[in-house]
Amino acid sequence: DRIISSEVNESEISFEQSLRPQTLKQYIGQEQVKGNLEIFIKAAKLREETLDHVLLYGPPGLGKTTLAVIIANEMNVNIRTTSGPAIERPGDLAAILTALEPGDVLFIDEIHRLSRSIEEVLYPAMEDFCLDIVIGKGPTARSVRLDLPPFTLVGATTRAGALSAPFRDRFGVLGRLEYYKEEELKNIVKRTAELFETEIDDESAAEIARRSRGTPRIANRLLRRVRDFAQVKGDGEICLALAKEALELLQVDSMGLDHIDHKLLKGMIEKFRGGPVGLDTIAASIGEEAETIEDVYEPYLLQIGFLQRTPRGRIVTPKVYQHFGMEIPGV
Ligand code: ADP
Repeated sequence: DRIISSEVNESEISFEQSLRPQTLKQYIGQEQVKGNLEIFIKAAKLREETLDHVLLYGPPGLGKTTLAVIIANEMNVNIRTTSGPAIERPGDLAAILTALEPGDVLFIDEIHRLSRSIEEVLYPAMEDFCLDIVIGKGPTARSVRLDLPPFTLVGATTRAGALSAPFRDRFGVLGRLEYYKEEELKNIVKRTAELFETEIDDESAAEIARRSRGTPRIANRLLRRVRDFAQVKGDGEICLALAKEALELLQVDSMGLDHIDHKLLKGMIEKFRGGPVGLDTIAASIGEEAETIEDVYEPYLLQIGFLQRTPRGRIVTPKVYQHFGMEIPGV
């Protein structure tokens, strides 16, 4: 299991929930999205209206679910949570929608995985707060229009591009989440440490932040492991030497890359002279799904300028050679 994985197992779910900031004020970073939401929320409250539908997109672990919960809190309404793959039939969606209270937030994670037929049920629900359902079969079948309470749909996705244009257009508020800056992650680490009642110095928090791939979920995961290590090896207090030792053991390097990133990047250099290499070839070389690489692992490598996308495939940049202490070819 990769420490940088996007999967969240059972034991981590409650851990994550206990760490979730509850208000926009407590939510660190993402100033642009936060600023926008603040205005929309204020305006909706002033007009005593339901907040417009919100689409949040960006890589896993950046705080989309957290923001959905915060939106509900700030609007003083309840949140109902589901996900694209969980809604299989139109009836599933109808059951969820008709159970909403006026103003509620309906959070749909992985919204790009909704089927087209479900999407079509959602359109009138989003636009006119109504549901067209067909009762009966064959010649006696008739369509009935059901009124729904007004609600706010908050959708989250790692790939906004996978949503059809008409679907995307039905969201009034779009929020693109970015990788966090080191300083912001450091503050997230310190906040989590405080909730854990664990002492941590600034340097150690910065070290964990640097290795977190710009991602709060990974920062919290690393902190949790480092804290375990500090409890077993020391007196529980986290200092730089302990943090570094623990992070070495976790095999996350100074840029937040793990052994699979190493395998991927070194494979591209050794077998393909740095590329271009097609996504499917890369996927096969590390035994991952192409989609997972594209949504989860690659965006960070692109962001730090280790990979580049070209029409013929991915190429590694000189930064990778430098990172591995290898000679840059042709220099
Ligand atoms: P996503 O839905 O984008 O995959 P989550 O909202 O589940 O990500 O966030 C993962 C974890 O990271 C949560 O446990 C949350 O506590 C933490 N987190 C995310 N964003 C922030 C933030 N801006 N400030 C503090 N903690 C955050």
